Amino acid sequence: MSKFHSSVSRRDFMKGLGLAGASIGALSAVAPMFSDMDEVMGAPAGDLKRPWYVKEKDTPAVEIDWSLMKRYDKRIFSTGDFQKINDASKDLVLKLEGTTDINEAHSKWAKANTPGMTLRDQALWNGTQISRSFEPPYTFLGPQKSKTPEILGVPKWSATPEENTRILRVAGRLFGAFTVGVAELNEQNIKIIWSNNGKQDIVFEDVDEPYTTATKYVVPRKCKYVFVADTRHGEHATKTAPGAIINSAQQIAYFTAAHMDSRFQEFLRTLGYSCLGTSPAGSASWPVMTGVGELGRGANVITPEHGAMHRKFNFFFTDMPLAPTKPIDAGMNRFCYTCKKCGIQCPTSTIPIETEPTWEGHGAWNNSGVKAWFLNYPTCGGKFDYKSTWGPGYCGMCMANCVFSKFDDANVHEIVKAVASTTSVFNAFFNNMDDTFQYGQNWRAHQMGDTYIEDWWNTMGPEFGYLTRTG
Ligand code: SF4
Ligand code: SF4
Repeated sequence: MSKFHSSVSRRDFMKGLGLAGASIGALSAVAPMFSDMDEVMGAPAGDLKRPWYVKEKDTPAVEIDWSLMKRYDKRIFSTGDFQKINDASKDLVLKLEGTTDINEAHSKWAKANTPGMTLRDQALWNGTQISRSFEPPYTFLGPQKSKTPEILGVPKWSATPEENTRILRVAGRLFGAFTVGVAELNEQNIKIIWSNNGKQDIVFEDVDEPYTTATKYVVPRKCKYVFVADTRHGEHATKTAPGAIINSAQQIAYFTAAHMDSRFQEFLRTLGYSCLGTSPAGSASWPVMTGVGELGRGANVITPEHGAMHRKFNFFFTDMPLAPTKPIDAGMNRFCYTCKKCGIQCPTSTIPIETEPTWEGHGAWNNSGVKAWFLNYPTCGGKFDYKSTWGPGYCGMCMANCVFSKFDDANVHEIVKAVASTTSVFNAFFNNMDDTFQYGQNWRAHQMGDTYIEDWWNTMGPEFGYLTRTG
């Protein structure tokens, strides 16, 4: 069954649920919304859909005389008149600023708070410059190439903690983060930070500047704020799990996440603050503590907006004063008690299916202190080198099949999530409903006659596969 273009009548929907009488009455308010799933699942085919007024013609709107055209020699671009004119125009800009040095101009603009070139604007720009270099994008201290307030001759950025948190969120969106959550380190939550990242100890010292040695990463105690940035998976591709298509979406997300560290590090450096990367903690920990999402049965993070379709949660230590964000309760962790879908569908039984979470893990790889459904992680097929006879390549079905992993434009899913956040009475019903629509059951697709994976190749998704809205 195709879930990209599924169409279920209200009658079939009710029948599929096995509901009658009062139950149907209670559901009649939401049921009609299920009839137009097609409209919310993206373009109907792999074609570029244009507005009605765009017409195709045999020739472009601009006039072309092929007899006059010759092949262009790009060397013209970097020699002769082009460069002279180019240099002169650059000089003109600098002359207007009363300088001959572009660095001096940057400094002058920062000092004058010139709109578009304020310290904050330049910090953002510096954060993105890493994309054009071959610097390792994922280090504890960061590239440290961007200009600092000292170099620009201006005071460091100063704003309220609330405003600082907000600009991290705004900049984070440009850097590829869905959202940013914030916590202040204290003697309890500091236990979330790994003691060792596999090579170096992570230690906190009363020093002014962070530093690294062969054996340790040193976090100054003044870097008492942690912020976490969420990189997600492209939805349509994720839904094809298991196989190479979801793995491709994963790699795109990892690329974004890998650059996230450098972008935030260079951004905060220009604002005058430390920003320490490499995220030495369990992936779900800080997103849960900062309210980016809730802990799910699959030891994953489920967010109200994108369910379990997340790839990486980079987090950072900083001395920039930030306003902490609180943990959330949208009923999603509660939903997992009765749902169990990811556990049931996990091909390696890595995710437990017991109703109650426990305090005990499976082995030393599970950290203690959280009542959770612990993954037996060594058996997980999510690892890159996993191969088995049940399905091809990368797994990721727990992300794809989570009841909360839905396309973000489908209003009915918003209603389901809102109800689940206030009462658990309908949780079993919602789970049943998910099965009725055969969401997330494309594993062994070739055996089940499922067309989801084939549909992916016929659907024109958004850039990088991320469905977006501005909220
Ligand atoms: S990635 Fe696959 S094998 Fe690993 S926990 Fe998720 S469903 Fe199970
Ligand atoms: S599939 Fe169900 S049990 Fe698993 S994380 Fe999602 S809501 Fe929880």
